[in-house]
Order: sequence, then C-alpha cells, then structure tokens
Amino acid sequence: MSSPKNSEIRVRFAPSPTGFLHVGGLRTALFNYLFARKNNGSFVLRIEDTDRKRYIPGAQENLINTFKQMGLDYDEGPVIGGNFGPYIQSERTEHYQKYAQELIDKGAAYYCFCTEKRLNKLRDEARQRNETVMYDGACRNLSQEEVQKKLADNVPHVVRLKIPKEGTTVFYDVVRERVEVENALVDDQVIIKSDGFPTYHLANVVDDHLMKISHVIRGEEWLISVPKHIFMYESLGWKVPKFVHLPLLLNPDKTKLSKRQGDVAVEDYLAKGYLPEALINFVAILGWHAKEDRELYTLDELVKVFSLKRISKSGAVFDVEKLNWMNGWYLRNLSLDYIAEKAKSYFEEAGLDVSNTEKYLKVVDNARNRSATIPEMITHSEMFYNDLEFSDKHKKITNTEVAKRLYEFWIEKLESTDDLSEEFIKMLIKETTEKLGLKGKDLYFPLRLALFGDVHGPDIPMIVDILGREEVIARLNSILHR
Ligand code: GLU
Repeated sequence: MSSPKNSEIRVRFAPSPTGFLHVGGLRTALFNYLFARKNNGSFVLRIEDTDRKRYIPGAQENLINTFKQMGLDYDEGPVIGGNFGPYIQSERTEHYQKYAQELIDKGAAYYCFCTEKRLNKLRDEARQRNETVMYDGACRNLSQEEVQKKLADNVPHVVRLKIPKEGTTVFYDVVRERVEVENALVDDQVIIKSDGFPTYHLANVVDDHLMKISHVIRGEEWLISVPKHIFMYESLGWKVPKFVHLPLLLNPDKTKLSKRQGDVAVEDYLAKGYLPEALINFVAILGWHAKEDRELYTLDELVKVFSLKRISKSGAVFDVEKLNWMNGWYLRNLSLDYIAEKAKSYFEEAGLDVSNTEKYLKVVDNARNRSATIPEMITHSEMFYNDLEFSDKHKKITNTEVAKRLYEFWIEKLESTDDLSEEFIKMLIKETTEKLGLKGKDLYFPLRLALFGDVHGPDIPMIVDILGREEVIARLNSILHR
C-alpha cells in the first residue's frame, strides 16, 4: 500500500490535444511528475480542449499512450478518474459559465459586443503604428440597460476581463523570482468566446482552483498571462497558486525550438528507436541540473534529487548530439533482454531472422556497444544474417592463394572440434601465424572479410561466437568456392 498523499502538493499537466506531445511538453509533464513524486503529492492530467477549432481527434489517446511508454503515471485524470473530475475541460463547461457570470456580477468582467470587423480594424491600426494589439475598451462602460438590450436582441458577444488601467501586478515565480507588470499593458482578455466556450485563461484558472492545484509548473510562454490569471483569482477571492515557469527550449543556434530544425514530437523520437529512459533523462536536464556534477539519472533517481530551486532561468539548448550520446549510454547499460525486446521489431522490419534467440542476443550485445540508436544497431548486425557481398577491392584480398590456404586451414580445424571458445580461436590464430606465416593485416583482413564482410569490425573470436560453428564453416566454404 502506498502512503496517503500530501494533499498540500497538487500539480497538473494540462495539454491541449492539438496533435502530438512536444518535447517541451514532455519536460513540463516530467517536472510536474517529479515534483509530485518527490513530495508525495498528486500529479493530475487535465485535457484542455476548449479550443474546438484546434481539436484533433485521437490526440488525447495518443498523449496517454506516450505517457505510458515514458513511465509517467498520473494519479488523477482521464480514464482513471479522481475526486476532482471530470478531467476533460469540454465536460466541465457549466463551471466556466458560472464563474464568468460571477466575474461579471463583481464588475471584474464585461460583455463586449464589438464586431469582428471593428476588432480587425483596431488590430490593423495597431500594427500600422507598430503597437501591441490591445482591445480599446469600447464596451467597458456600457450601461446596464444597453447591455440588457443587446443581450435581449441576441447581439453576438464575448466576455472580457476588466483589467484595471492603473497600477502594477507584482508576483513571485519560483524560477523568475519577482515579476512586475504594468496593468496598462495587460489586455482585456476574452474569457468567454462568442460560441459560449471559455478561453484557455478562464478554464485554466477555474480548474486550477477547483482541482486545488498548489503549484502551476509550465513553460515560460505562459508567464505573460499570469497577471490576467491573478486578476481572476483575486476577483473571485481565491488563493493564487505558486508559479513555476520553465525556461524556453532552444535550437542550437539559440532560436526558439522549432520543427524546422528537427523533430519536436516525442512520438517521432520513439518511432526512431530512442529509448524512453534516454528521452526522460535528456529532457530532465533541459533547464535543470542536480547539485552534483552528474547527468545520467533514471526516473527513480530523478525523483530523489529533483528540486524546483535548481531550475535555471536561461533557455536550454535542445542538443540532439547529447540525446544520441545518452541514448547510446542507455543502450549499453540497460539489461540485454530489455534492449533485445525493444530492438526486435526493427530487426524484423529490416528482414533479419531473429528466431535464433541465442544468436540474436549476441548480435544485439555486439551492436548496442557500437550504436547510439536502435536503427544504427541494424547496420552493425545485418552482416551476421545476410549473405556477404564483396567489392572488387575486397575480392583482391580474399582471392589470393595464401588467403585460400588460410580458409582451408580454418575449415579443417573447425570441422574437427566443437570448441569455439575465445581461447581456442586465439590459439587458432596463433597457429595460423606459425603455420602460414600470416600476421597483422595479412591475417585479419582476409579472415574478417570472409566471416564478416569487412576488413574492420569486431574481434575474430567475437564474430565466431556470434555466427556459430556451422555458419563460420559455411562462410569460409562459400568464399573459397566462389
Ligand atoms: N493548455 C495549455 C497548454 O497547452 C496549458 C498551459 C498551462 O499549463 O497553464 O500548454
């Protein structure tokens, strides 16, 4: 039985199901998860799907599936439920209506009847003057009667926040520390759209309150929205949660991480054969580092060492080279059975017959020590399964008289023994030198070519061990009789 949760610590990951899980989203989810687990709090998954225009069917299932693959289990959310559900915003619309009304009643929000045409004009004018687009407040001070009349006449409308024009909003962010924003720069944000659906801002604040979220941990792009959110919390008399805004993810050229410069979807990395363990470890150190000078951590180890205080302010470069290095480390260090299982479908897809498990495990063990990714492992394994092909240059090496004598000698020796141990093969190599006068390149190149198809590659005893006696003899015979 797990110990009861600390109800003071509740965090959430609140993605909009507009497609794939972005690597930045994975980092946000991970930091929420780590903070919750470290403090025995609850990790909530909430689907923010109120923007129906951007909704993509299947995105939510995809996301939950990716979470599973990554080993990030949540305590409350879609499918599993919880005490604060439902966890899908489109199923919670009555809450947003209710609190929008409360904000209106309190004078903190107002109906806006401005037409699309007028708003477009305002926007174009602001752009021409090179100013930030802001609503000019035309409907802020309509009289009660005017509002009631327009509502009765069914004039299309939205609801906007009535942000004070004076003063500043000051708040503390765990990462950014003290932040101060002039209220005059904060737009009268739309909170209910003309279709009656809430915008992100209202739904997010209402749900964070109703779901008793203690810490809002999310990407830095949301920092700018905090004054609007605080205005809602305070107008409704609610406690403001703690804010933790994670630094931006950057391309190596320090621009904001974008699709144009490489993959950004977690699924794409998984499909390319990156290990969940490596992806988790990699995103964990994007903008966070442990006290000690160390970068390799499993998920469980991260839970132990994670702390919000060690999140950095400056943007974190998403360096695929580093991910490759990490993935290679995990390939070499996780259990052989696990890696073999992960790699299986890739081998099968490449047409390699992995039915001989003993051989397959040896092949994988060899390949994982030479590769950064699973597809790369294939290139280090094909030669153990496929017929070998030789270039003219290589044929010159294998067609010499002395090479033929070498092959005959090995066939003869191997046919008369069952021993394929490293010691035996080493002894056989020694004997070859003594008997045929071959050593160095003259010995290893023709031998490795015959068995492996290349002059460079693993040690001969290792190749022999992987291929097995029959295949070694068959390969020697085949090159001899070509
Ligand atoms: N739905 C928002 C997103 O897609 C959530 C932002 C937040 O965590 O407040 O990023």
